[in-house]
Amino acid sequence: QKFVYDFTEGNKDLKDLLGGKGANLAEMTNLGLPVPPGFTITTEACKVYLDTGSEPAPLRDEVSAHLDALEQKMGKRLGDAADPLLVSVRSGAKFSMPGMMDTVLNIGLSDASVGGLANQAGNERFAWDSYRRLIQMFGKTVLGVDGELFEEALEAAKDAKGTGDDLDLDAADLKAIVERFKGIVRDRTGRDFPQDPREQMDLAVHAVFDSWNSDRAKLYRRQERIPGDLATAVNICSMVFGNLGADSGTGVAFTRDPASGYQGVYGDYLQNAQGEDVVAGIRNTVPLADLEGLDQASYDQLMSIMTTLENHYRDLCDIEFTIERGKLWMLQTRVGKRTAAAAFRIAVQLVDQGLIDLDEALHRVNGAQLAQLMFPRFDESTKAERVAWGIAASPGAAVGKAVFDSYTAVKWSRSGEQVILVRRETNPDDLDGMIAAEGILTSRGGKTSHAAVVARGMGKTCVCGAEELEVDTKKRRFTTADGKVVEEGDLISIDGSTGKVYLGEVPVVPSPVVEYFEGTLHAGADEQGGLVQAVHRIMAHADVRRSLRVRANADNADDANRARRFGAQGIGLCRTEHMFLGEERRREVEQLILADNDKDREAALATLMPLQKADFVELFQAMDGLPVTVRLLDPPLHEFLPDITELSVRVALAEARKDPNENDLRLLQAVHKLHEANPMLGLRGVRLGLVIPGLFGMQVRAIAEAAAERRRGGGDPRPEVMIPLVGTVQELEIVRDECEQVLAEVTAATGVKLDIKLGTMIELPRAALTAGQIAEAAEFFSFGTNDLTQTVWGFSRDDVEASFFTAYLEKGIFGVSPFETIDRDGVGALVKHAVTEGRATRPDLKLGVCGEHGGDPDSVHFFHQAGLDYVSCSPFRIPVARLEAGRAAI
Ligand code: ADP
Ligand code: MG
Ligand code: MG
Repeated sequence: QKFVYDFTEGNKDLKDLLGGKGANLAEMTNLGLPVPPGFTITTEACKVYLDTGSEPAPLRDEVSAHLDALEQKMGKRLGDAADPLLVSVRSGAKFSMPGMMDTVLNIGLSDASVGGLANQAGNERFAWDSYRRLIQMFGKTVLGVDGELFEEALEAAKDAKGTGDDLDLDAADLKAIVERFKGIVRDRTGRDFPQDPREQMDLAVHAVFDSWNSDRAKLYRRQERIPGDLATAVNICSMVFGNLGADSGTGVAFTRDPASGYQGVYGDYLQNAQGEDVVAGIRNTVPLADLEGLDQASYDQLMSIMTTLENHYRDLCDIEFTIERGKLWMLQTRVGKRTAAAAFRIAVQLVDQGLIDLDEALHRVNGAQLAQLMFPRFDESTKAERVAWGIAASPGAAVGKAVFDSYTAVKWSRSGEQVILVRRETNPDDLDGMIAAEGILTSRGGKTSHAAVVARGMGKTCVCGAEELEVDTKKRRFTTADGKVVEEGDLISIDGSTGKVYLGEVPVVPSPVVEYFEGTLHAGADEQGGLVQAVHRIMAHADVRRSLRVRANADNADDANRARRFGAQGIGLCRTEHMFLGEERRREVEQLILADNDKDREAALATLMPLQKADFVELFQAMDGLPVTVRLLDPPLHEFLPDITELSVRVALAEARKDPNENDLRLLQAVHKLHEANPMLGLRGVRLGLVIPGLFGMQVRAIAEAAAERRRGGGDPRPEVMIPLVGTVQELEIVRDECEQVLAEVTAATGVKLDIKLGTMIELPRAALTAGQIAEAAEFFSFGTNDLTQTVWGFSRDDVEASFFTAYLEKGIFGVSPFETIDRDGVGALVKHAVTEGRATRPDLKLGVCGEHGGDPDSVHFFHQAGLDYVSCSPFRIPVARLEAGRAAI
């Protein structure tokens, strides 16, 4: 096994082994682009180190061999006193984790070699600046010294000089700072800053390995659902210097705008600086376009390299580069992160450029991005006071109370407040706060600052670089250009799509993508530069590709109509319990529950029947020509009765007044009688139908009569009757007999022959296990994966999220709640079993799923693989389900 690869040996497909950075450095090297030579230590070496606490035995010699080769190539030796080779030691995992792990630049500098570097470069200031950077980065990341100490020492030196700019510090100042820094290291670690270059390198490599398991890296991985066992590679890259003077510099670039997707020149450049300065927002960068005026040749070369990279990767790339005395060097590239809108626009642009086909375009976007585009945005015509106009770093409209540190953001959001995290600039320590906040506002940094990159990755609203704002995190407030003060807790609104910042709460308007689905987007209004057009083309292709049909969960005509506009191909779940609510109906339902003889019960049912029927008529009309699956009454009856405490108080008060209410007394008795310790496992679902004579019959009659009425009126109603919570075929057989009898009666009475399918939900493990038998009596199955998850795991859905799920997520027992994304191994296995058994009994058995999972991207892919016919989800999730069903099929 080989643990070290030269940049000339790897390629972009080796991300598992070389990490994204290493694989792409190799790819660029092999494309003949100017990459400083170097080599990559594999993730396998890191895994061994993390598992055993030490490097794999052969690593040291392999590294020595590659270092020798590198020294040969460069004609310099690492840390050589006369002419030192310097290297960077850079982390790089398979998936990019911006700023989460460590990198150390200028390894190889020491008291002995700093003079050599100065002589070779003919620039003493540069050598000492590089040395102080090494001690600072090494001290912080490798030796664990508090970075603030270095920052403060540097600030103090600038203050003493009466300047705020690093560039005003001369060689002598920097030399003094180096001494100061070495003192800090000695004080804090009890040892001297290591002078042996190879020792520096080895320690840095270990620090990078260790950074894989830093708290912030772990938190980021959980958030982004990146597996914890991938480990990081380490890249050793010969240094090039952007801090050699005005003809040098460093920057970041995108081949298109990652926020909008538009083509153009996007990026930031910083003269006379080393790479980390750009991201840290130390000094203000200039737009990349300005480089043209500073260094035409490098600019042209960069533009041409960007075209090469886009054509090669066939996607948006982001790039880190450095110019050393007029010579351009490429230090990193990768397929860049982008906003949801950019993802759709870019995918379609690349199709039009002939670089990718529509399948690939569909593959490049996802349901989460589509969902983001459906968020409402701020009302443009707002009268709210705009106090700043920063950089639109990550889209969305966020309103919340201003908070100025991560801790408060987390604390307040835990107690249910919506907060906006306001900082001068963010750093990786702010991650918790960024996750907790609705949005992030910074006064410094550009589109490539930490805040911007991380927020885009999380899909969180962010405005950065709002320079008019004076942010004072110590006093917990910011001041606007015209002197207004916003204190911690004041409401602000930020628009990540425009960069605007408002005082107070700004009203929001619907997104154009939703208006497009609704059909209310007026012609020519697209349109956010072709965004709606891009969504339209990709959705159309998803619809062509997908084999899963998409239905809606809808209980009324309004929802059904919206669902149709969003592309629903029927209703997969109509809950009838919602039809039992409302003042008038509630009274009848109470009478039904209180009835202790046939006559009272029949009277209550007879009153409810026409009300139910009217509901169904409307619903079938809205879904004319499409299937509507109606679930018979499911919830425990106590949900329809008054709250026990409230009722007890009412009865007690009435008794005290010597004016007892007969009905309340009976209700209270009923509530006591119906009280169950575990109502979700109690009298509900099919059990209600079996225990309350006539209840299911009444519902089926309402469905059948409504269908007959629609049919006579020229409609095409397609109801399906669904029995919930069945555990054994015997239950279903009894209900089935009753239903068939009712259907026959309705047909006889109306003369309309009805073809109403009868099926069941599969939401208990026993039902899934005996699906072969159940299919004898069911024409369709709909998997109720909410209850199935609840019963398979033994989790009470209403309680666990608040009690122990956080702990489970933190401990990595699952990466995401099984109520959100289907648990393939457990619940999923039962679904697959039921599919196989059910179809074995009845080959034309129709199979669907209703419940939250029906609109969850990952779950949709599972249902496609499991061979279901349709998923059903809430109307708003329908476009997401359509898109993901299409993606699952390619
Ligand atoms: P990150 O993953 O946090 O971007 P990097 O390893 O890319 O970390 O390095 C941090 C910064 O240092 C980047 O701006 C990068 O371009 C710069 N850098 C890394 N290696 C070198 C090098 N050999 N020469 C010059 N700059 C470098
Ligand atoms: Mg980088
Ligand atoms: Mg259920």
